[in-house]
Amino acid sequence: MPEEPSDSPTPTTETRYKGTAVSPGIACGPIILLYADEHIVRKRRIRPEDVSGEITRFEAALLKTHQQIQTIRNQLASSIGEAEASIFDAHILSLEDSSLIESVKEQVQSRLVNIDFAYEQVVRSYTRKMKELDDDYFRERAADFIDVSHRVLRNLQGSQGQSQQELQNLDTPSIILAHDLTPSDTAGLDRKMVLGIATEVGSRVSHSAIMARSLNLPAVVGLREVIGKFEPGVEVLIDGYEGLLIVAPTEQTKFEYGQREKQQHDVEIKLDALRETLPVTVDQRRIIVSANVEILEDLPLVQEHGAEGIGLLRTEYLFLNQDEFPTEEQQMDVYRQMAQASKPHHVIIRTLDVGGDKKRPHLGIEVEENPFLGFRGIRYSLGRQDLFRTQLRAICRAGTEGNVRIMFPMISDLRELKEGRRILDEVRADLRRENVPQGDKLEVGVMIEVPSAALIADILARHVDFFSVGSNDLIQYTLAIDRGNEKVAGMYQPAHPAVLRLLQTVVEAAHRNKIWVGVCGEMAADVVLTPALVGLGVDELSTGAVSIPRVKRAIQALNFEEARQVVSRCILNESAEQNQAELLQMAQRLYPEIL
Ligand code: PEP
Ligand code: MG
Repeated sequence: MPEEPSDSPTPTTETRYKGTAVSPGIACGPIILLYADEHIVRKRRIRPEDVSGEITRFEAALLKTHQQIQTIRNQLASSIGEAEASIFDAHILSLEDSSLIESVKEQVQSRLVNIDFAYEQVVRSYTRKMKELDDDYFRERAADFIDVSHRVLRNLQGSQGQSQQELQNLDTPSIILAHDLTPSDTAGLDRKMVLGIATEVGSRVSHSAIMARSLNLPAVVGLREVIGKFEPGVEVLIDGYEGLLIVAPTEQTKFEYGQREKQQHDVEIKLDALRETLPVTVDQRRIIVSANVEILEDLPLVQEHGAEGIGLLRTEYLFLNQDEFPTEEQQMDVYRQMAQASKPHHVIIRTLDVGGDKKRPHLGIEVEENPFLGFRGIRYSLGRQDLFRTQLRAICRAGTEGNVRIMFPMISDLRELKEGRRILDEVRADLRRENVPQGDKLEVGVMIEVPSAALIADILARHVDFFSVGSNDLIQYTLAIDRGNEKVAGMYQPAHPAVLRLLQTVVEAAHRNKIWVGVCGEMAADVVLTPALVGLGVDELSTGAVSIPRVKRAIQALNFEEARQVVSRCILNESAEQNQAELLQMAQRLYPEIL
């Protein structure tokens, strides 16, 4: 059995870890670690007289964990069978490992640190050494230890959902390093206290990355297995341009990054000058550039960056941000503020798009084998009509502002759209009967983010006022690439001919039916792809606010006719790489300064 643990080595020399840059910017500060099981384990110094209290706390947590595992074991034994239940015997053995327990106590005594920290360190050291033995038996034992340690930490720290609370109550501006951050974790971040975000998993289009961009927080994801390599509290620097996490940066590094920030600032100032200009190509094709918004705090950035209204309001963040459903009045208040801030332009309010990775306990979504293919988007709303009707009432009432549009997410066939519209009609009739003011005309659109919807776009177009392509999901479902999985992120290719062909089908169907079509996925923010989207005839691009000046600049440098020819070639090309290279070449020729 591995013996005495050592601390995670906190580097005294600068160490660099490479991940994927997902939100630009540079941040430097102390690091907070958020583990896979969503526990923040902070190191705290304790006084010698606190040692016995910490050990009592530990013993109580071990006892409670023992009881919990025993209960699960008994339930399993009576429902499935003794053989299956016996896997929990191994968990109990790991829990009772006396050398581990003694080691933890010894750490608390000798180093005067809090018990959660000591326990986490000892388990980490044990399991690392077990895994190094390269033996199936020890690997399984390591998994048992890790599993059990999550329970113990949960019991030590009191309640579930601790991470969220802690994240919301930070007292020092810090950088968060997490295995993963759920969209609800990210939505709950206190912007004044969080300087930047780093995660071990994730990709450019995972919801947390999107959220980091809207929060204007530098972020790096896909830093595989970096947690545990250093202690909480150590100074780190995040480079959100190159995708670097730099631990213990030297003074020289910090100086160089200071210079880099200054240069970047100069580029931003130049782009700022574009705020009041219109996104029109050199041959006078007008494109609308609007903003994607998650929460009210995004509004100042939207206005600062010259957005033409809100092309996507992700309302689920209202639901993910808190533990209860927002009331009709609360929702209406938010939607109204969004509509007022968007004038003279529109706000497109997307109905609740929970499910997939966007979950909170109060939403009542059960664990699913394939959540991204499950109870998500419009499927959830049609299954929870009480919530859906409340939300539609709030949207219709905010519609008195005169610039509100409604959009349904994750539509995969006509039946869902018709059902959504039928409920909307009923809600509007109810409001009329109750003499509650509502918007006279509310345009209704759908997101095109499932390949089936793209392929029947001509049918759907007859029933709506507009389309907005959710390329994040459309690409994931078309190419069968999980949008949040860093292991396959290299195969997530927006310029894939299959994606461009689907987009072409959608745009043509929309225009044949005299409706407009936008793109509100992250593809709209990628200026290398702007020629493809403009060339396909997309009418609106909606992106995170910070990307707006760049997208405007790209449009102003493009010639629509030329873009059309390039994309017609790309559709026939054999690979995404070829398309990417052609589009990049065009972008480099026309607007190198923003690439
Ligand atoms: C999309 O899928 O492209 C989209 C805009 O929706 P979300 O990212 O919220 O799933
Ligand atoms: Mg989507």
